[in-house]
Amino acid sequence: MKIIMLGAPGAGKGTQAKKIAAKYDIPHISTGDIFRANIKNGTELGKKAKTYMDQGLLVPDELVVDLVVDRVNQEDCSNGYVLDGFPRTIPQAEALDKALADLGQKMDYAIDVDVPDENIVNRMGGRRACVGCGATYHLVFAPTKEEGICDTCGKELILRDDDKPETVQKRLNVYHEQTQPLIEYYSKAGILKTVDGTVDMNDVFQAIVDILGE
Ligand code: ADP
Ligand code: ADP
Ligand code: ZN
Repeated sequence: MKIIMLGAPGAGKGTQAKKIAAKYDIPHISTGDIFRANIKNGTELGKKAKTYMDQGLLVPDELVVDLVVDRVNQEDCSNGYVLDGFPRTIPQAEALDKALADLGQKMDYAIDVDVPDENIVNRMGGRRACVGCGATYHLVFAPTKEEGICDTCGKELILRDDDKPETVQKRLNVYHEQTQPLIEYYSKAGILKTVDGTVDMNDVFQAIVDILGE
């Protein structure tokens, strides 16, 4: 099963992608996580990506497409995968379709986690990320057992620089201009499914399972 997660920054793509990956036993591929790992490790890619990410802008298509195409061609992706944060532009979607077509494959589902902008701004202020393992929490909606400490690895939690309110608004604008057109793109392709992302995260997941099957 090959799945794309669509939705605004903070809509809950990552949260749902992790649950999908666990239930259906397929890899979770997050381009944001890949870039953050590269930044942490000080790679050339990380240095380039950081200048865009810090400003709330998208990293140029040429830095992301080959990376994802290489990743989905790896052995562990043979039964499918869930893409989180990619594609984010029409050219990225076209490049992905072409790479899959060359292999005689196609995407199965594009799931749009639908959340209005006003909910997003509140949600992002409460998102916390682990500096160690990258796990995501929320002060109110997904709290850790001990405040400020990762449940999984025990490291400290931070507010991502790009989750500060000024940058969130910028990212939302970028989303509407560059990413939202993908909803129509996948609707035309006949694989778009929309779920209400404003409800409890377990109920969002149930709606997704209803689409994908038990
Ligand atoms: P969120 O989950 O809040 O939407 P991500 O972790 O997916 O954020 O992405 C963080 C940042 O990484 C984006 O704002 C963008 O700068 C960059 N990024 C991630 N994926 C892509 C992509 N497919 N194309 C371009 N930039 C990307
Ligand atoms: P995205 O990957 O789309 O940027 P995340 O999955 O990181 O979004 O979720 C953004 C923030 O909102 C996180 O702090 C997460 O714990 C929280 N969150 C995710 N889904 C929900 C939900 N249905 N209701 C409330 N908060 C949520
Ligand atoms: Zn951790």
